[in-house]
Amino acid sequence: MIDTHAHLTGMFCDLPTGRQAGKGVVEEAKMARLWAIVLAASNIEESVENIKLAKNYDGFLFAAAGIHPQQTDVENKDSIDKQIAHLDELIGKNKKNIVAVGECGLDYSPAPAGEKDRSRRGQEKLFRKQICLSMKYKLPLIIHARKAMDQVIEILSEYKNLKGVFHCYAGGKKRIKKVLGLGEDWYFGIDGNLTYDDGLVEVVKKIPRDRLILETDSPLLTPEPFRGKENKPAYVKYVYKKVSEIWGVEFKECEKLIDENARKMFGINPSS
Ligand SMILES: [Zn+2]
Ligand SMILES: [Zn+2]
Repeated sequence: MIDTHAHLTGMFCDLPTGRQAGKGVVEEAKMARLWAIVLAASNIEESVENIKLAKNYDGFLFAAAGIHPQQTDVENKDSIDKQIAHLDELIGKNKKNIVAVGECGLDYSPAPAGEKDRSRRGQEKLFRKQICLSMKYKLPLIIHARKAMDQVIEILSEYKNLKGVFHCYAGGKKRIKKVLGLGEDWYFGIDGNLTYDDGLVEVVKKIPRDRLILETDSPLLTPEPFRGKENKPAYVKYVYKKVSEIWGVEFKECEKLIDENARKMFGINPSS
């Protein structure tokens, strides 16, 4: 099993950097028979931390580097250019440990309490610049699209030869075709809410089996039976289990298919 999207450091985690990412979480994931974890990034700081972790756990933790549409100051034009320049340099210097650009995209849901809504123009600029980085470094994109699925698909369709995943896919049954229309290198990332969201179960039934990958989005979206507690990569097994039930296949067969998709998408292989 592979958790293709987890945050072990950074602003999504309550615990200070390093603590959640400490040996415990990684060892527990290995004990649960995971062979890799992809660390998603929300901003430059988290990208830097991810790279550090990927170096410490070479061959097991793999870093993504990117800027989340709601996790940055997109009001200030200079700040976007500066952050992209920083990201560019970071990826250029650490290519060996980076497997994806993201998470990036558009998020039109209201900003967190007390914060101003991010400008849509700023978000789009930030997104397009990261698409360019993914082309420059030939890396897949980890797409975050909230209340902006159609806009994201429209932007992606302007470019050629992109690959990536719609992480925590929330486009419903009706947009599956549109995503597939982007090309054969596009995947759907599904999370722990599959264990309690019947609507999402119906969506998964419609996703081609060779386009599905699984993730936790730790520390968020904890699956049943641990819903309400903090999520961790080891819990991705409950998402695999749910998919095997939906598909009506043995856990092992489900694992084989899903892992093959993740291998293809990120270009990584089990080190053992
Ligand atoms: Zn996200
Ligand atoms: Zn995330």
